[in-house]
Amino acid sequence: MPNVDLHCHSTASDGLLPAADVARRAFANGVDLLALTDHDNLSGLPAARAVADEVGMGLVNGVEISIEWGGLQVHILGLNFAADDSALNAGLEAIRSGRVVRAQRMAAELEKIGIDGAFDGAMRHAENPTLISRAHFARYLVETGVCKDVRSVFDSYLVPGRPGYVDHRWATLADSVGWIKGAGGIAAVAHPGRYKFSKPQMRLLLDEFKELGGQAIEVISGSHSTENVAVFGRYAREYGFMASCGSDFHGPGESYVDLGKLSPLPQDLKPVWEAF
Ligand code: AMP
Ligand code: MN
Ligand code: MN
Ligand code: MN
Repeated sequence: MPNVDLHCHSTASDGLLPAADVARRAFANGVDLLALTDHDNLSGLPAARAVADEVGMGLVNGVEISIEWGGLQVHILGLNFAADDSALNAGLEAIRSGRVVRAQRMAAELEKIGIDGAFDGAMRHAENPTLISRAHFARYLVETGVCKDVRSVFDSYLVPGRPGYVDHRWATLADSVGWIKGAGGIAAVAHPGRYKFSKPQMRLLLDEFKELGGQAIEVISGSHSTENVAVFGRYAREYGFMASCGSDFHGPGESYVDLGKLSPLPQDLKPVWEAF
């Protein structure tokens, strides 16, 4: 089986490495086929493409779209689409335009519990200010000694019911799948094991996703447990979804799994890359 990694981030969103370095690291780690999937923007793709062409590694266009579904933030991956599609680009631009205001509201919430300077502090970590994200706030909370590492930030801060979290209107499931399909790509539910949905809610999400034309789910993910892999492998079979796999690499020392260091997909599932 080829070494495929279809989920990772660069400084175009909340990753720690520039897109070219992400592509180089993937190639050095033995990746045959990569998708750079920055949050809500495509600006890293040209640099990743240049490196992939130079070293002779496969690369498909990717993006990870932030949506709101069932009151929670859900991520939908777009894979192998036309990056110049105007509806997709306009949709992503609309999502981005809400991020700075949201970040100001997050900082105001943190100030209420005595954490000052979070907006500027988070912005200092954001190479791309329009993509200011909770990951940048998390780095600020580590830098200022509030938390010991980025992962532990999300146990106590920036998540629903905890300080620093604010509700936000992202795109809808229908928007995201529509933009991806309109640009000729394949939509995949990212890291389904991360969502705190009941079983009936998860089914409703997958029903709606399929109805809208969604075709894949991430079965292997850097943030999935062995149990998650088994559960979402079963969902993929039941719903007839293709299976995707991705590290969700954000940077050295900050991610569960490095680029290209994933366990293989369960043998009987249809790999999403066979449809590219
Ligand atoms: P945002 O798009 O601003 O809501 O930020 C979401 C980002 O925060 C994700 O893409 C991750 O990079 C990071 N994040 C969220 N939850 C966790 C978690 N439990 N552990 C580590 N990083 C997380
Ligand atoms: Mn992220
Ligand atoms: Mn995600
Ligand atoms: Mn991701």
